[in-house]
Amino acid sequence: MALSKNALPQPTDYYEGRGLTLKGPKNAVWKITRCEFHGGTNTMSIHTLSGGFHCWNCPASGGDVVDYEMLIDGVSFEEAARRLSAWTGGGDAPKRHKPKRLSARDALLLIANEATLIAIEGSRLGRGITLTASDLELVRKASGRINYALGAI
Ligand SMILES: [Zn+2]
Repeated sequence: MALSKNALPQPTDYYEGRGLTLKGPKNAVWKITRCEFHGGTNTMSIHTLSGGFHCWNCPASGGDVVDYEMLIDGVSFEEAARRLSAWTGGGDAPKRHKPKRLSARDALLLIANEATLIAIEGSRLGRGITLTASDLELVRKASGRINYALGAI
């Protein structure tokens, strides 16, 4: 009949249940993990409140855990909702709208997280520490995410 949003698993539980490790500051709303779609390490951002996800190296993105379940397993909206124990009955699936753009608040949080990462790496440089290739890659991606956030509000 319909998706019962309240019955959906908490995004953190859902993604960790899939074997993903969500990385980032404890209170960060956006976490980083590997992308199951193309196999990239630390390329997937997960919004821990909405369940939204966005890979920075492939087209995988969506607004919640239902979108993720549909995309990762190639199942219908109704099947995804059933798998997540969030389908309340029979009938036709409601029409899905496109995932929302970032709210200004979420964009600011994302920018704050990424700016912190860049500041930490800048501070290390200032202390004469040579950044590794993976450090530089993190900075490059953080910069990309800031630009994404600016374009998504
Ligand atoms: Zn990806």
